Amino acid sequence: MNTDNCRFCENNLSQIFLDLGTTPLSNSFLHKSDLNNDEPFFPLQVYVCEKCYLFQLKQFKTPNEIFSNYAYFSSYSSSWLKHAENYVNMIVDRFAFNQNSLVVELASNDGYLLQYFNKKNIPVLGIEPAENIAKIAIENNINTTVDFFSENLAYNLKNNGKQADLIIANNVLAHVPELNDFVEGIKILLKNNGIATIEFPHLLNLIKENQFDTIYHEHFSYFSLFTVMNIFSSHDLEIFDVEEILTHGGSLRLYIKHKKNNIFSITDNVKIVLDKERLNWMILIHINYFQIRFIYLNKN
Ligand SMILES: [Zn+2]
Repeated sequence: MNTDNCRFCENNLSQIFLDLGTTPLSNSFLHKSDLNNDEPFFPLQVYVCEKCYLFQLKQFKTPNEIFSNYAYFSSYSSSWLKHAENYVNMIVDRFAFNQNSLVVELASNDGYLLQYFNKKNIPVLGIEPAENIAKIAIENNINTTVDFFSENLAYNLKNNGKQADLIIANNVLAHVPELNDFVEGIKILLKNNGIATIEFPHLLNLIKENQFDTIYHEHFSYFSLFTVMNIFSSHDLEIFDVEEILTHGGSLRLYIKHKKNNIFSITDNVKIVLDKERLNWMILIHINYFQIRFIYLNKN
């Protein structure tokens, strides 16, 4: 499980970007009866792949161990609920989804987002591995399958006549150890003319704003647009639009389609964000260079 290779391109990982020592798993809260026992600690080191520039942690625990009984209920955050409602209104307006569409959300949590499609009578399917959380969604009449999303699950759904007009994956990509399997699953599940939207915290903000507290064992990967584009491209998927949004310290929302789908043209936003990344990398690399020179000169 603790592989030494990049989870996207399988290049050997040797370059550490940030070393935060060792910590227990976050969200693995202790019971009173655990207090006299040893608590396991795991290394918290972010590697950067020198081939594809995916920033990533090595994996020490299976998703099953981390996510099967999860402590985070999305509906507890009223600002996140508002974000979800605004998104649903926007996406239904922009792409005209209706009663004949199917919306699938990967890691649908307690149904915090799909409830707004339900209200518009647009059919939904949530996929959520945490049984304790999926239970809440099901109780609220939100059609939910309790499982991890994978290529296999996507094939099963497709073989049962279920393909999506819209796939939503918010803040889940970072939690996925088998990245290629997950993205291939999106390709399989997405109708020919369907779209997927994906949100994740932007690596650029993590670096610029020193958001080191967003680094923990549940987050296996940290994404730039540049790297994520290559990941989707290798699965014949194409990013045709991107928005910079304020959630989680500054995130990206990507709009994705099949490469062979020519209905949507690629907006200028994609190039704008890529250019921003390029420019900022150069500045950051220079700042680091001068800081290192400065430390060196002071020492000597
Ligand atoms: Zn790589």
